[in-house]
Amino acid sequence: APVIVAIDGPSGTGKSSTSRAVAAKLGLNYLDTGAQYRAITWWMLKHGIDVRDAAAVAAAADRPEIVSGTDPADPTITVDGADASGPIRTQEVTDAVSAVSAVPEVRARITELQRAIAASAPTGIVVEGRDIGTTVLPDADLKVFLTASPEARAARRGGELKGREGGQVDLDATREALLRRDAADSTRKTSPLKKADDAVEVDTTELTLEQVVECVVTLIEE
Ligand code: C5P
Repeated sequence: APVIVAIDGPSGTGKSSTSRAVAAKLGLNYLDTGAQYRAITWWMLKHGIDVRDAAAVAAAADRPEIVSGTDPADPTITVDGADASGPIRTQEVTDAVSAVSAVPEVRARITELQRAIAASAPTGIVVEGRDIGTTVLPDADLKVFLTASPEARAARRGGELKGREGGQVDLDATREALLRRDAADSTRKTSPLKKADDAVEVDTTELTLEQVVECVVTLIEE
């Protein structure tokens, strides 16, 4: 049977890099669920919907067409046919995504997409997010919950931003924004960021990416 792997955890713990590498290594598909929430958020902003207005966001939740490519070597995302991979990483989207993803109608819509994608993966899939092990795929073969110290997470996120935008990155501001987003994601009412009871917790603070990948691959093969 296809192998289903759920990788959850807060921002900056290495979820994306780990999930992509594990999927590539084992010949599995890969799904970045954060990219889907970012994509719907980008669409809301582009259509002038006030992201603080939960009723307006809920009313529009079914309108955008979101398509995710699940090749770990080239994960793509389009919204209404347009490439969204660049725009979903802007600060504007990052600042709005927690509010949009707290809306139950948004979660229902995106969760349905995620389950359909996972069900159609021929050899299996690595799905990364916040609520995959608890809500989206509670029957996953393996659930991993990645953690890291706030300092390590801010440093990694700062490194990503620097790679993308160049120049100076304010690490203190990065750290504050990241902790604020995780607090919002952890306290929302509908499927908050949370470790599943049967998830294996891996603290990545002192580990290299290769070590985390090795650890997850070993857990899958066990
Ligand atoms: O993983 P990434 O940082 O790109 O996720 C962006 C945001 O999408 C998170 O801060 C969270 O608000 C939302 N998200 C979610 N559930 C998921 C994945 C992401 O609510 N499974």
